[in-house]
Amino acid sequence: MRVLRFLVIVTLSACALLGQAKKYPAGYTDTPVIPGMQWRVHDIARPHPPIITPGTATAAPSDAVVLFDGKNLSKWLDQGRGPNSGKTGPAKWIVRDGYFEVAPGAGSLITKEKFGDMQLHLEFATPAKVEKASQGRGNSGVLIMGLYEIQVLDSYNNITYADGQASAIYGQYPPLVNASRPPGQWQTYDIIFEAPRFEGDDLVKAAYVTVLHNGVLTQHRQKMLGPMRHKVNTYYEAHDPNGPIMLQQHSNPTRYRNIWVRKLDKVQQ
Ligand code: MG
Repeated sequence: MRVLRFLVIVTLSACALLGQAKKYPAGYTDTPVIPGMQWRVHDIARPHPPIITPGTATAAPSDAVVLFDGKNLSKWLDQGRGPNSGKTGPAKWIVRDGYFEVAPGAGSLITKEKFGDMQLHLEFATPAKVEKASQGRGNSGVLIMGLYEIQVLDSYNNITYADGQASAIYGQYPPLVNASRPPGQWQTYDIIFEAPRFEGDDLVKAAYVTVLHNGVLTQHRQKMLGPMRHKVNTYYEAHDPNGPIMLQQHSNPTRYRNIWVRKLDKVQQ
C-alpha cells in the first residue's frame, strides 16, 4: 500500500512538473535566428552565464531625481492594461513599509517625467515564495524609455532562456554573469543608458546600455538591437528623444524600492 501511494505521488509530481514546463517553457527552438549571431531569439540551447556571489547597495546622490523614497508613488502613473492599455491613470501598485509591490490587475508603472541618457538605480526583490518556473518566476522588467528592457526575474536556480534571465537585455543579450540573489532578498540594478539618436526616420546611433547587477558588471556598454520584443527579432523605429521609465506588470508580485535617476546631459557621442 505504501509503495502504491509513493508511486501515485511520484507520478502526480512528474505530471505537475511537465505541466509547468509546458506553460513556462525554458526556451524555444522555433524562433528566428538573431542577425549576426548563431542563436535564435530565446534559444533554449544558448549557454547560461556563470553564477557568482554579489556584494551590497547604494543611497541616492545629491543630484539625482528620486523616483521612490519609500513613501508614495507620486512620481508614477498606471499605464493601463488590456483594452485600457496606454490610458494612463493614478499608480495602482501597493505601497508598503518602504517599498511597493506589483498589484494584481493593475497596469505597468511609468514615470511622469521623461528621460533620455541616464544613470538609473533601483532595488527589487522577487517573491520569497517560489511558484511557477522559467519566465513565470518573479517576472517584471525595467523598460527604459518604455521600450528597452532590462529583465527582472528570479534567476536563482531557475532555468530559462539565457536572453530572458535577470539582467539580460531581453531577447538580445544574456548578462555576462548570473549575479542573482535568492528569491525574497533585495537586489540592485545600476543602469547607464545612452538613448538612440534619430534623424527623421533614420537611426544614426543605436542605444547602448551598461548594467551592474548587485554591483557586478553584467552588460558592458552593450549596443542594443532595438526595443524589447517577445519571440521575434527587433529593430529600431524613430521615437522622441525622451521617454518614461517603465516597470513591467507581469502578474508576479515583485517588489521595488530606492529608485533614483541622474540625467546625463553630456554623453560623448
Ligand atoms: Mg520581463
